[in-house]
Amino acid sequence: MTKLGLQQQRAVYAADARVDVGVHFADYDDAQSWLDEIVAADWFTSRRYNERCRRFVVCEQDPRRSNEACAAATVDEESQMGEIHCPLRMLTQQTLLHESAHLLTPGTSHGPTWVRAYLEVTYLARGTETYVQLYDALKLSGADINHREES
Ligand SMILES: [Zn+2]
Repeated sequence: MTKLGLQQQRAVYAADARVDVGVHFADYDDAQSWLDEIVAADWFTSRRYNERCRRFVVCEQDPRRSNEACAAATVDEESQMGEIHCPLRMLTQQTLLHESAHLLTPGTSHGPTWVRAYLEVTYLARGTETYVQLYDALKLSGADINHREES
């Protein structure tokens, strides 16, 4: 990762730490139901997000595959299903939206394109108050929100 990319990642993680994580789901079925509602919402289709990912699938994270401290997302090109691997202790609305934004902006890391998608899904799924909280936190932690080029 480039130095700028690393700075951006740190800024994003710092911003996430400043924002209310929302609902902490008790189990994977609850989390999956919430993700299914997002994908079924009119706004999801009207933003043409369904052309990038038709379903977010959340599952337990394999500790051998990835560090327990982060959730990982991968998209299956053929079925357009995105997998989110998440430890139970991180199974919150915030984590799921963070990872969903990765699924909607493949290959952009935590750059401005990803940040815009993250802000947008947060606004649409969690409302104005959380959006403003996240926007302010991103600004405060120095995340790059506006530049066109990816870091
Ligand atoms: Zn991330």
